[in-house]
Amino acid sequence: MFENLSERLSGVFDRLTKQGALSDSDVSTALREVRVALLEADVSLSVTRDFVKAVQEKAAGQSVTKSVTPGQQVVKIVHDELVHVLAGDETEPGELKVDNPPAPILMVGLQGSGKTTTTAKLAKRLSEKNGKRVLMASLDTQRPAAQEQLAILGKQIGVDTLPIIKGQSAVDIAKRAKQQATLAGYDVYMLDTAGRLHIDQVLMDEVQAVRDVANPRETLLVVDGLTGQDAVNVAEEFDGKVGISGVVLTRMDGDGRGGAALSMRAVTGKPIKYVGLGEKLDAIEEFHPERVAGRILGMGDIVSLVEKAQETIEAEQAERMMKRFQKGLFNMNDLKAQLEQMMKMGGMEGIMGMMPGMGKMAKQVEEAGFNDKVLKRQVALIQSMTKKERANPQILQASRKKRIAKGAGLEVSDLNKLLKMHRQMADMMKKMGKMGKRGMLKGALG
Ligand code: GDP
Repeated sequence: MFENLSERLSGVFDRLTKQGALSDSDVSTALREVRVALLEADVSLSVTRDFVKAVQEKAAGQSVTKSVTPGQQVVKIVHDELVHVLAGDETEPGELKVDNPPAPILMVGLQGSGKTTTTAKLAKRLSEKNGKRVLMASLDTQRPAAQEQLAILGKQIGVDTLPIIKGQSAVDIAKRAKQQATLAGYDVYMLDTAGRLHIDQVLMDEVQAVRDVANPRETLLVVDGLTGQDAVNVAEEFDGKVGISGVVLTRMDGDGRGGAALSMRAVTGKPIKYVGLGEKLDAIEEFHPERVAGRILGMGDIVSLVEKAQETIEAEQAERMMKRFQKGLFNMNDLKAQLEQMMKMGGMEGIMGMMPGMGKMAKQVEEAGFNDKVLKRQVALIQSMTKKERANPQILQASRKKRIAKGAGLEVSDLNKLLKMHRQMADMMKKMGKMGKRGMLKGALG
């Protein structure tokens, strides 16, 4: 899986991480190579473009640290972006929803994608790993022997299949499966629908009719990972017509270029839940975006090195800031750093809760309607100030206030609110600083 892409990318980053200092052009050259590598792996153009852009922006905004090289930091950024592209905001594969027995799972996909094999692989997992009683039914009335194929697989893995009644329609088989699963107390029943060579209306109509009968908890699309962007197109079509809950990418054991995996989530918004890694009935794995990103880059050591360094920097920054507070220093730059930290921590309750005496203020701030949007606006206001003004906001005159508010696309009243908050916080810091001299804050800092 991903061997070629992995080789290409590690080549790029091996060179990059060996350099001490990095110029902008070093980074752009590397990113150009990343772009080519992704496109050659058959990742879609728009996904590739967004990927490179995101890395570029993050690389430009990164803080410089002594303990890791810029190249190593770029590796970490690329790694995080890979995880993001593979997973969206969820980093762990969701379990299949198989509560409320009997839970129907609808398997859809084109002929030859590996649908029947995958049905059996998942049934085996569900019964062996999760201890579920599973019933499988083939709804394929088109392909001769398709129903027998599933029955044979069922015998191999010790999972029941619905008895075959010749001449029944797909919808009738689905109804019978539902009935049987309910009567006989199965936890899960899996419906293996018929595939076609291409998407056509008849196929979609049939799948829709089956879906309406079964009301599936999961509708899994099986696509051949070797088909690259075609796999993504198929997923978009199926999702538009029947609605899918996830994707299984098969043949990821081959020397496919991996593009399907990288584009799937970004293009369709649907998660890859499993990958098929061979013909054997246990050759299936959950899709873990973190692990896959790690495998693609092959630079796990660097990623964890940078993670550690970042933690240290954050701790150092916090300590530096605390020292300033102890001296009663708190200017607009400090406030900006605080606001940014809050955004990162997803709210201010947590951060203020950690500071002695700030609990009450956190409440007030929250009541004042503090949220991410407000935080972003306040940072924008501070950014519109000059260096001098940030260090000493008292010098702000009415005309400058107007300009600053305008620069941030806001009103002067917004700026006044910010200035008031800054004054209150500065006062608070001064008081805390004095307490600190008597040892209280030192104690609190440990
Ligand atoms: P269906 O027409 O979609 O039901 O496809 P089948 O399940 O009959 O699979 C078609 C062929 O692909 C069979 O020979 C399977 O053994 C093979 N196959 C399915 N999944 C995988 C996989 O993940 N890797 C490999 N190498 N072969 C697979």
